[in-house]
Amino acid sequence: MNGRLRVGLMGALVTGLLLVAVVSVLALSGSKSLASTAVVLCINVMLVVSLQSFVGTTGILSFGHAAFMGIGAFTVALFTIPATLKRSQLPSTPPFVRDTTLPWPLAVGLAVLVCAVVAALMGVVLVRMTTSAMVMATFALLITAYTVLLNAVDWTRGSTGIFGVPRSMSPWIAVAVAVVFIVVVRVLGASRLGLEGRAVREDELAAASIGIDIRRNRYLLWVISAALMGAAGGIWALNVLAFDAGQFGFATTFALLAMLVVGGRESVLGAVVGAGVVLLVTELFSRVEQGFRIGGFELPRITGTVQFVLALLIILALIWRPEGIIGRAEIEELVAPLRRWAQGVRVRGNATTAPDIVAEPSMSAGIVLEGRGLSRSFSGVRAVDGIDIQVERGEILGLIGPNGSGKSTLLNLMSGVSAPDAGDVLLNGVVVTSTTVHSRARAGLGRTFQNIRLFEHLSVLDNISAPPRSEAVAGLALLTRLNLADVLAAEAGTLSYGQQRRLEIARALATAPAVILMDEPAAGMNEEESDSLLRDIRNLAAEENCGVIIIDHDLRLIMRLCDRIQVLETGRTIAIGTPEEIAQNAQVRAAYLGDPVGGDE
Ligand code: ADP
Ligand code: MG
Repeated sequence: MNGRLRVGLMGALVTGLLLVAVVSVLALSGSKSLASTAVVLCINVMLVVSLQSFVGTTGILSFGHAAFMGIGAFTVALFTIPATLKRSQLPSTPPFVRDTTLPWPLAVGLAVLVCAVVAALMGVVLVRMTTSAMVMATFALLITAYTVLLNAVDWTRGSTGIFGVPRSMSPWIAVAVAVVFIVVVRVLGASRLGLEGRAVREDELAAASIGIDIRRNRYLLWVISAALMGAAGGIWALNVLAFDAGQFGFATTFALLAMLVVGGRESVLGAVVGAGVVLLVTELFSRVEQGFRIGGFELPRITGTVQFVLALLIILALIWRPEGIIGRAEIEELVAPLRRWAQGVRVRGNATTAPDIVAEPSMSAGIVLEGRGLSRSFSGVRAVDGIDIQVERGEILGLIGPNGSGKSTLLNLMSGVSAPDAGDVLLNGVVVTSTTVHSRARAGLGRTFQNIRLFEHLSVLDNISAPPRSEAVAGLALLTRLNLADVLAAEAGTLSYGQQRRLEIARALATAPAVILMDEPAAGMNEEESDSLLRDIRNLAAEENCGVIIIDHDLRLIMRLCDRIQVLETGRTIAIGTPEEIAQNAQVRAAYLGDPVGGDE
């Protein structure tokens, strides 16, 4: 088991213990109503961590999860209510439904299955949408499911509901199931799927460019989280002993989102704390809502108090703690002794779980990346106009030219960010012109960006571990080589500019690229920093035997670093050759003499 999973598991157990402690106090208090509050707390935890596993990981707000809760609750109610009660309540359902009763764990398993199938079907369409369209689609799902459940009277008896689910929940069963949910969601978050999901959340383009298949990632997280939600909804039905279609609409969605926002949506601990806080507020103010006497005054009944206070709570959280009470941290990041332990496990875990054979860079020579007759216009402007470009393994090719001469556009055409109007891109001799960014990354094309695009809120170690092809040992070695070994646990966004540039290069190299494209890696660096970067790039290119195409405005740096230089002007190649040849070239001197080191955008 790798370091991340071990830490996730341990964090889940500690979080679970906290919940067990709270539930024990409530359950052993001797008050029946506190014991049933404990069960509700556990069920809210199940619901909200299930929601968190999608919303927190992907950063995509889902209004649709209450639908899965409803489907799960309905499935469990349908298959746990005794046959006699079903015959009288649902006379027109097929006999196999009427006559089948399952033990509750099996019924919950069935709910998981049904929700997974519904989510899998819907997911096919969903993941092909843009992020904002996806949010709207989840909203449509909520309304559709709500309407269908309410109107399928033969099956659900609409707003009357179906009754007679046998009593099976106790605080102890509920807390045991809730701990299982916490473990599953933390392990999912610590898994490769979760890590890649968070990388996509932080920066979609950067994630694709290290080989992450965004659609696949979102699809799997969507289905898994829907299945969990179905199970939680099923337990919900077991506790209320009935299914009432009206329960799975806006109010529930609102309450669940309130828990996530208040507690902290990017953390499982935050979700759990949010569930607790919202339940506490609900319990307190639903008493107030009933009206009560205080010092001789009779306060009237005020309906809507709970909703009002929840709304207030969300607004306050958004103003003062937009990331929620807990923020992004998990329990092992908040408690100092656990934090020290977790950091040790992460680093050592990575070092010991590496495969025995670390892939040797292929020593084959020859052209690794080639562009043939590439063209691309933007509304009449020929940004790239019939450019041929080639780079060999182990070779460093410099790409220079004035601002707006098409350098960045050319890199985007080759990495798959945009499609050429004409021409072809060949990677290792294979035409990849119409393939996606992530598949080119997996085929060996790495890149860095003109404006640094790290996964800002992930640690340095997670940044380097995110590429699907990354190898733990190689990744750590890269960080050491690039002077980042001391900041493994730091959030990438907090690093200095030079460190961020180096981390971006390390992350690109962690994909074990055959060729790497760098867009102005030295931009904004002082002379000393750019000199050391230059040395690093040259050494790494030689060690990894990968081809490099590098754009930079600093002619001094390009001249010293590159084996060959290609000069662009208004989308065309005006010169190509060794640094000496380029230095002698009259056309280049004309283009550059007036403005030897112009700044870019
Ligand atoms: P460089 O990187 O060499 O400075 P670019 O490739 O960024 O140049 O830009 C080349 C030309 O294409 C410029 O005229 C720029 O305005 C235009 N261009 C680049 N990207 C876009 C875009 N996404 N939409 C419209 N025009 C663009
Ligand atoms: Mg540019």
